[in-house]
Amino acid sequence: MARPSDYPPPWSPAEAVAEPTDPPEERIEVGVVVVGAGPAGLACAIRLGHLLQGAPEVAERLGEVPVAVVDKGAKPGAHLLSGAVVNPVSLRRLFAGRRRTQDMPFFGRVEQEAVYVLTPRRAVRVPTPPPMRNHGNYVASLARLGRWLAEEAEAAGVTVLPETAAEKLLVAHGRVVGVRTGDRGRGRDGQPLATFEPGSDVVAQATVLAEGTQGYLTAAAVERFGLTGHSPQVYALGVKEVWKVARPLDRVVHTLGWPLRPQARYREFGGSFVYPMGEDMVTVGMVVGLDYRDVELSVHDLLQELKTHPLLRRILDGGERVAWGAKTIPEGGFYALPRPLHAPGLVICGDAAGMVNVPALKGIHYAVESGILAADAIFAALQPGEAVGRPGALARYDEAVRGSFIWRDLWRVRNVRQAFGRGLLVGSAVAAAATVSGGRLPPGRIPTELDASHELVRTGRARRYPAPDGKLVFDKLSSVYLSGNRTRDDAPNHLRVQTLVPREVAELWAHMCPAQVYEPGGEDAGKVEVRVTPSNCVQCGAITAKGGRLTPAEGGSGPEYSLT
Ligand SMILES: Cc1cc2nc3c(=O)[nH]c(=O)nc-3n(C[C@H](O)[C@H](O)[C@H](O)COP(=O)(O)OP(=O)(O)OC[C@H]3O[C@@H](n4cnc5c(N)ncnc54)[C@H](O)[C@@H]3O)c2cc1C
Ligand code: SF4
Repeated sequence: MARPSDYPPPWSPAEAVAEPTDPPEERIEVGVVVVGAGPAGLACAIRLGHLLQGAPEVAERLGEVPVAVVDKGAKPGAHLLSGAVVNPVSLRRLFAGRRRTQDMPFFGRVEQEAVYVLTPRRAVRVPTPPPMRNHGNYVASLARLGRWLAEEAEAAGVTVLPETAAEKLLVAHGRVVGVRTGDRGRGRDGQPLATFEPGSDVVAQATVLAEGTQGYLTAAAVERFGLTGHSPQVYALGVKEVWKVARPLDRVVHTLGWPLRPQARYREFGGSFVYPMGEDMVTVGMVVGLDYRDVELSVHDLLQELKTHPLLRRILDGGERVAWGAKTIPEGGFYALPRPLHAPGLVICGDAAGMVNVPALKGIHYAVESGILAADAIFAALQPGEAVGRPGALARYDEAVRGSFIWRDLWRVRNVRQAFGRGLLVGSAVAAAATVSGGRLPPGRIPTELDASHELVRTGRARRYPAPDGKLVFDKLSSVYLSGNRTRDDAPNHLRVQTLVPREVAELWAHMCPAQVYEPGGEDAGKVEVRVTPSNCVQCGAITAKGGRLTPAEGGSGPEYSLT
């Protein structure tokens, strides 16, 4: 059978790098430009805002807009989606003396937790593995937390620009000098419509890439400046729903096992989470590694299947689904981090760099911490006598990350995700060894292959997915509707895939995409036409992991998450 990597997208990272093209007087000049209003980008911007409040002479040198954050979502938080159980350590550090945990938009503190191994009918409670302990953490909606952080950033003097996609990294004389934002108001064939607004060169002394998972400019920067990590990056896809429920849930729940298969040959690694959101809501989600092999695996439909389990039915019974969304998670871990994490005039933070602890399903506090460390490094490089674009001027960011708990935590679990590629038993044994040895075992580096490079198999899996009933089980289109997707039907296609591929690759994309963007069409000379409906896309990034390329869509399009 085929491999998706045999059908690479018609795209090259070089497309996302350019020199500034606007005449100098038309360029938008800012001090520091941050790409991405997620926890990493906003933490960086807030920290810079606070530091500049205490250093007016540095702020003055940065001009009228010392710090700007651009985000492609329609408003802050619109493209944010997470579990989200938050370790508050770095948010406390960010707001030390200014805000307390009680001021942050959390649903509550985790007081109890339970982990179950599922079979189709039973749920066997097992002791909580140490990385999955959450006592003392807080449950949030990341979309909501992002909105709050954006307000805090504005209060700290930062300019937050939603509806703005950064589509090119501006590089001149070997250093990053800002980003170019995308055009808005183009028709399907690229023609300007009455609403047309051209993009702009946003030039800055320092650029922070905090794009999150599958960063578009990050991929370009990694290639342009040779920042490739020791191992390739790999991903998981998470699909989640928020439910209004009749009874409060009193604990954080994780499940392993069913509906995933434990045999190594299927490469199905993942699990589910159910978190309480206050008294009357819960979030339920399913996360599955994208190195899976089955053509018919669909994380959207596995989540629907999961909800038919008695454990889940008891929680959701009498409830109503109120939100839905999907997003990928970088899972390559320590060895997939870009090396170094900076280039002249540039730093990379959070998920864009792949700072996720997979066994713990945690990335938010690493994102916030890396944002703080990036801000400190940039602030130091903005002092008189230093030049922020000088090669090596931002190396102190790498040094700070290496000295932080981000490095320590990711090192300890460096082989765990890779071991799960060899099946649940081997993965569990390696995870246990890593935990008891404080990360010393297993030694060395377990190699990683790209998600798209695994040979496909077909096992008739789709027959098992439950039929939608519109109450507990939903189809993909009703899910996309609930995401608040705002993409125009006549917008240019922002997805790059080969459109004549073997049937199994076309079907893989159709099943994989949680938003029903791909559909296998007619067959010709052994190849199948792939029909693409880009307006359904919720920009989760899975297609990039599995053989295509998501590029930045028009700013303001895509989902409008508020509770995810
Ligand atoms: C299903 C799921 C469950 C998770 N559960 C947890 C959990 O319980 N606890 C935990 O700690 N972590 C969890 N994580 C991981 C966590 O959400 C991430 O690690 C964290 O959100 C990373 O923050 P970030 O700021 O780096 O990126 P993001 O949160 O992804 O934010 C990036 C932002 O950049 C914007 N952007 C991207 N590219 C561009 C561009 N070119 N131009 C303009 N804007 C751009 C995006 O729109 C987005 O708003 C989970 C993730 C998922 C998907
Ligand atoms: S087309 Fe969009 S929604 Fe579908 S997998 Fe790709 S990025 Fe995700």
